[in-house]
Formats: sequence, C-alpha cells, structure tokens
Amino acid sequence: MRIGICGAGVGGLSAGIGLKALGHDVEVFERSPALRATGAGLMLWPNGVRAIYGLGLRDQFDAIAVKIGSFRNYDSSGKLLFEKDTSDWPAKYAAPVIAVNRWTLSSMLAEAFGADALRFDHEVVSAETTSEKARAHFSNGTSYEGDALIAADGLHSVIRDKLIGGVDFHPSEHHAFRWRAIFDLDELDIDPGAQTGYYDPAGWVAFLPIGNGKAYWFGSSSKASTTGEFIELFGSWKSTPIPKALRITPREAIIQSALDVAEGLPAKWTHGRITLLGDAAHPPIPDLAQGAGQALIDSKVLRDAFAKTNDIDQALDEYDRLRRDAAYYVMQCSLKGSFLGANKVDPIAVRYEREIEAMGA
Ligand SMILES: Cc1cc2nc3c(=O)[nH]c(=O)nc-3n(C[C@H](O)[C@H](O)[C@H](O)COP(=O)(O)OP(=O)(O)OC[C@H]3O[C@@H](n4cnc5c(N)ncnc54)[C@H](O)[C@@H]3O)c2cc1C
Repeated sequence: MRIGICGAGVGGLSAGIGLKALGHDVEVFERSPALRATGAGLMLWPNGVRAIYGLGLRDQFDAIAVKIGSFRNYDSSGKLLFEKDTSDWPAKYAAPVIAVNRWTLSSMLAEAFGADALRFDHEVVSAETTSEKARAHFSNGTSYEGDALIAADGLHSVIRDKLIGGVDFHPSEHHAFRWRAIFDLDELDIDPGAQTGYYDPAGWVAFLPIGNGKAYWFGSSSKASTTGEFIELFGSWKSTPIPKALRITPREAIIQSALDVAEGLPAKWTHGRITLLGDAAHPPIPDLAQGAGQALIDSKVLRDAFAKTNDIDQALDEYDRLRRDAAYYVMQCSLKGSFLGANKVDPIAVRYEREIEAMGA
C-alpha cells in the first residue's frame, strides 16, 4: 500500500517506521526545510517507552535516553516536599521513565525511518479523501496520492482543521506559558539521574538530565508572561539552583511557549482514507508529560492494526476505536495534572503510577 504521512515530528516519524516495517510504501512530508525539534528535552513515561520498544527501536532508544530513578520536589526555600523512587518502574511497568534530548530523539527516528522517503519543504495546504484514495496538496505546487494519509501535522493541524474543523484553543487557566533551555550538566550541581523540582504558589522550575553531559530546566508561573518577568521572579529563589541556572543560560537560548488548551475535540479521527495522529488528534497540555508518549502509542497501535489486515478501512477504524477515548482520557488527566502542579507539591508521578495501566499502550 502507498501511505503518506504529513509531519515529521515524533508522531509522523514513528508512524512511518511502524508502517514501513510492514512493507508498505511510506513517504513522510514535512513543511520545514530540514529536520526540526522545537524545545529542549522530553520526559517519556513507561507507556511511551514501551511503545518505542514495541516499534523495534529498543537498542537505539536505550542508547540515547537517560533513566530517571527518582523525582524530588522542594519548595522555594529548599525544603523537601515530595520524593518518589522510580527505580523499580522497569520491573513493575516493563520500561523506565526516561528523559531525552528532543533533537537526539528526532534524529534517531529520522535515521530509523530513512532519508530516502523523507520529503522536506512539503507544507500540506489541503487534503481530500474518496472511499479508496487520499490526496494531499502542498504549497510547493505538488500533490501526493496514496491509499491512506496520516495527518501528523501537530497541534494546529491543517488537515484536521480543513477536514473536521472545530478545535478552539484558549490559554491554560493555571500557567499560560512554559520556559525552558538546555545547559551543561557540569555547570550546575543537580542529580544526573533524577528530576528535581522547586515549587511555590507563584510557579515552579524543574531540572532533568538528557544525556551527553546536558540537562534542561523548564518552568511555568502564573505571574510571568514574558521571559524577563520569568527571570526576575525565579532569579530571586536564592535557596535553589534556579538563579544560577538562569545566569548560565544565554537569554537567546531560552524558549517560551504558550500552553493552549484545546476545546471541541474531533468525535472521530478517521474520515475515509485519512486519519489523525499525535497532537493533531489529541492536542495536549504538557503538564503530565504525555504528548509525545501518546503519539508513540498511536503509532504502535496503528502499526498493529495494519499488521492484522489488508483492509485499510478496517485498520484505520480499529486504530481510531482503540486510541481515541484512551488519548482523550489522558488529556483529562493532563488538565488535572496542571491543577495539581500549581499546588506546591507535584503528585503527578504518584497519580501516574495509579493510572499507569489505564494509560498503557
Ligand atoms: C513546553 C512543552 C513541553 C512538553 N514536554 C513533553 C514531555 O516532557 N513529554 C511528552 O511526552 N510530551 C511533551 N510535550 C508534548 C510533545 O512535545 C508533543 O505531544 C509531541 O511533540 C507531539 O508530536 P507530533 O509529532 O504529534 O507533533 P509535532 O512534534 O508538533 O510535529 C508535527 C510536525 O508536523 C510539521 N507540520 C506542521 N504543519 C505542517 C504542514 N502543514 N505540512 C507539513 N508538515 C507540517 C511540523 O513542522 C512538525 O515537524 C511537550 C510540549 C510542550 C509544548
């Protein structure tokens, strides 16, 4: 079968790897001129890691991922609020919780997919489907026709909006923005095998190692809407490593993103021969750190559905049926995670442990 995938993010590339491994003729179309990986690092919980393993990428992934053995959260005066040992999670959940550099993960996925079928400078502007074919049209004037099309074109998916419409975004009630940046691990005294966070009602900043001598800090606050305000606020948390982290980070290296909550989610992902995958299907807010993990699970479930049958409609319907409610449930948990995260301690890891089976691949 000929299958086109729009978007070379974690979702599109992992879907491509799964479908190509089944012997399908797969092409991935990406609007950027080269591979991109916006952001700094990613945390993946065991459900997302199990999906990567299930896609046959265990060795490559273990080589680039950092296992996180514990979570420790402090208040802004440095008093310990919460500690969770996750070193037994590989035994309990068949995979560790990990942190990884976004760029390294994207590069690994692109290499596993193969450069020969990765088409950059292909911005999809519209797509259509009949009962037997799907087509994508690109801003460079070219078109693609395949037996199926996977829309993995991210949060503001053009294909979703043109095909289904209806998704509205509004700023997160608790924290409207997230700031983050990568730094050299040897410049700051943080645990290289743990997530360490600092919380108070004004906001929080956490640190995660991502391998190759690097780590990243990331944080949010209801009291800041610019990078300057963020630096001023957290620069005063003298009993924590945050002021030093901000000092050693060049201003231009700090990334600020809006955290928008989606309303009016699609009642169905599959329309004819087109389906949605990753953020295009279930735009997350990142407080539960599940967006990329859910995209990976989508890809694994899609691959498994195509492995079972040659009937494309049946495979696309099965994928939609198995994934939609589960992914929307995780989005609901993510909103609650956001609420809990704004309340000093971070019980997300505990909550996750309780819910982990429900979120599983
Ligand atoms: C601040 C922040 C922190 C996060 N932290 C985590 C975390 O720790 N753990 C986690 O699991 N998740 C996290 N997430 C969520 C995670 O980043 C996303 O869920 C994940 O990247 C979704 O992957 P995707 O492939 O669906 O979309 P994307 O990564 O957005 O990829 C979409 C791709 O499609 C391309 N594209 C877009 N439009 C078009 C078009 N018209 N034509 C062709 N190509 C197009 C884009 O250029 C991009 O390459 C975080 C998100 C944010 C904002």
